[in-house]
Amino acid sequence: MSEFKIALIPGDGIGPEIVAGAVTVLDAVSAKFGVKFNYEEVYMGGCAIDKYGEPLPQETVDKCLASDSVLLGAVGGPKWDNVPAKLRPETGLLGIRKALGLYSNLRPSILKPQLAAASPLKSEKLEGGLDIMVVRELTGGIYFGKKTKSEDGTWASDEEKYSVEEVRRIGKIAFETAMLRKKRVVSVDKANVLESSRLWRATMIELAKEYPEVELTHMYVDNAAMQLAINPAQFDVIVTSNIFGDILSDLSSAIAGSIGMLPSASLGKSKLGMYEPIHGSAPDIAGMDIANPIATIVSAAMMLRMSFGLIEEADAIEAAVDKVLSENYRTADIMSDGMTKVGTKEMAKLIAERL
Ligand code: NAD
Repeated sequence: MSEFKIALIPGDGIGPEIVAGAVTVLDAVSAKFGVKFNYEEVYMGGCAIDKYGEPLPQETVDKCLASDSVLLGAVGGPKWDNVPAKLRPETGLLGIRKALGLYSNLRPSILKPQLAAASPLKSEKLEGGLDIMVVRELTGGIYFGKKTKSEDGTWASDEEKYSVEEVRRIGKIAFETAMLRKKRVVSVDKANVLESSRLWRATMIELAKEYPEVELTHMYVDNAAMQLAINPAQFDVIVTSNIFGDILSDLSSAIAGSIGMLPSASLGKSKLGMYEPIHGSAPDIAGMDIANPIATIVSAAMMLRMSFGLIEEADAIEAAVDKVLSENYRTADIMSDGMTKVGTKEMAKLIAERL
């Protein structure tokens, strides 16, 4: 029997509820397919600040590194909003990505036909369907560049810097992802203005020669934002820098409807990845058993597919989610007329049963 060790980081707010939902479904996968998952629960974020005085204890990093993959709920909340920047829960998030060497973030934005009404776009804009994969560079660029503030406080700067190697490795992930999809990559930059973008574009053009089956096109980031809003069906894979990816991936998720539905994967050189819903810790609904666990459940499916190679098992989870939605079960965030409202635990249980 194949066995995998999963580090669970429930985190704060709704995190523990949605991660528990994903474990319910993983246990059902285990029972049906005869694969064993061993869980190790670790602390990160606000709960780690409360217990250890820091958002990312070394013990958490060590246990994640010793696992086959990491499943994260979410971190943060108003209780820790006023702690010093170094101690903020989100610092733990940046720290764990760096510690695990996770330089790419993959965010699929898929609008399920059952939830078409949840998209803010008019239905005619969605006629070609919506199935976009945003591949965002995660450990370079302006977020990690040199930060400077003048002594008199009258100016500040953040450096946007990319090396050919950093662009190549994220580009490879995008091209390889496209090979499994519609074989189209749009590389998003601001090469008309930024030197770092010109290097980005030239590197992508060079790399494309290694993937002759994939069509590479380029788009300036301002145009990409507009195109996502007016004609999202044109996109297959979008690859972009850390800051542009941060903004565009939120936009592409927003047009796909509720953030309670969408997963993400952060990957590096090894098979070890970190999988998490795209939403935050939703402190406003924490502990009420009303959060949508689907984003976390499909994040677990991504983990099975991308880190463990369990394709059939991952497909089964996604099919079970589709079935439950087709049977008109909804959590509060995706509720509409004529549907049956269920809570977090019940939604996870229904999906586990449909497996
Ligand atoms: P949020 O995503 O937590 O919540 C935004 C809105 O969406 C809220 O109304 C919330 O109730 C709702 N929502 C989110 N997830 C939901 C779900 N699964 N089911 C139903 N409704 C859901 O964003 P926010 O309010 O800006 O941030 C709250 C906290 O989360 C902050 O401390 C922020 O820093 C943190 N955060 C963490 C992560 C992460 O851990 N990766 C990401 C984003 C924000």
